[in-house]
Amino acid sequence: MLAMLPHLRSRLRAGPQVPRLARAFGHFGAFFAAIFALSLALATPARAVWLDRHEAIMGTNIDVEIWHDDSIKGEAALDAVMDEMRRIDTLMSHYKPESELSQINARGAREAVVVDKELFDLIKLSLHFSEITNGAFDITYASVGYLYNYRKHIKPSEDEIEKALPGVNYRHLLLDEKAHSVKFAQDGMRIDLGGIAKGYAVDRGIGILQARGVQHAVVTAGGDTRIIGDRMGRPWIVGIRHPDDKSKTVLRLPLVDTAMSTSGDYERYFDEDGKRYHHIIDPHTGHSASKVRSATILGPTAVQTDGLSKTAFVLGAERAKEIIEKLPDFDGIFVRPDGKVLYTKGLQPPDEAAGSPQSPGGSEPDKKAAKPSKPAASSK
Ligand code: ADP
Ligand code: MG
Repeated sequence: MLAMLPHLRSRLRAGPQVPRLARAFGHFGAFFAAIFALSLALATPARAVWLDRHEAIMGTNIDVEIWHDDSIKGEAALDAVMDEMRRIDTLMSHYKPESELSQINARGAREAVVVDKELFDLIKLSLHFSEITNGAFDITYASVGYLYNYRKHIKPSEDEIEKALPGVNYRHLLLDEKAHSVKFAQDGMRIDLGGIAKGYAVDRGIGILQARGVQHAVVTAGGDTRIIGDRMGRPWIVGIRHPDDKSKTVLRLPLVDTAMSTSGDYERYFDEDGKRYHHIIDPHTGHSASKVRSATILGPTAVQTDGLSKTAFVLGAERAKEIIEKLPDFDGIFVRPDGKVLYTKGLQPPDEAAGSPQSPGGSEPDKKAAKPSKPAASSK
């Protein structure tokens, strides 16, 4: 998702010192210098380095990059972040029948299902995002969403949608704060945290790194990213990809200490009869929400930016822009189906005079641009 400035990367990843010593000492000198360097390396603690780790967890790509002054401790920190991602997946995956989330889906219509406070709190937060987005974000979308399978090109019929749609309504999710229990007000309801759990996991990963003293890091899970610190005095450069061409970039953003989530109709989808069926569902209709091609939200935490990045698909760029502009510390970038890019007030539009791309439709790829924000496959 993120690309780093290459010259900085090479400067910071200092190479071994042995060759320089070898030239000074000649042939024999080289041998002894090598022995000397080896013993020095064994004697001194690990030095500061950039470390990165990439794994597939939660059905998506997890990328973590950190600056650490001790490579051994840094590797341990990366292990801890990945362990945390696996833990959250086990708790919240709807693919895993044993997960607490699956227990809610299996029993929630019959009884109040008591869950871990952590899961309860995330469900509660999801309801908050439903409220501030006029129901555009709604984890009960899954009551109809489960009828789609993008990999297998399966979509529900109009009849099936009509039958399932009454189950989509966040107001029918009954939470008991004291017992940490969740109940469905009616049959046929399901929930899915796919639209917020990755942002949550990213924040947890950053929390783990901060607790271990890491001050410069990027953690990404699918479309959700959080950055702490800068890249040694310079901002991190993050690109938002062109919806139709992952090698092109709509916009590059220099970022420090921020979270960013991008949702796109090119992530999980199939096209049929000229229509795109993709993974963001309009809770009001049960169909794929198509009012924008992509939406990027910037804000303090990834759980928040994730919870907001679906809004524009359902409500449209203009309405989403109004909502985001009312929230202090948040910004948004929306790519409309006609190719126009809309920015919230807090972001300067690209300088037209300098020829920066104005719309993803007409712009040439920026040769120096960061990698697209979601370089992974366009269909998961
Ligand atoms: P990513 O999974 O790459 O972070 P998004 O943040 O765009 O992508 O989230 C897309 C996911 O959100 C879908 O795969 C689905 O699980 C969930 N989702 C789809 N529609 C809605 C909706 N209206 N409200 C809440 N979650 C949704
Ligand atoms: Mg997301």
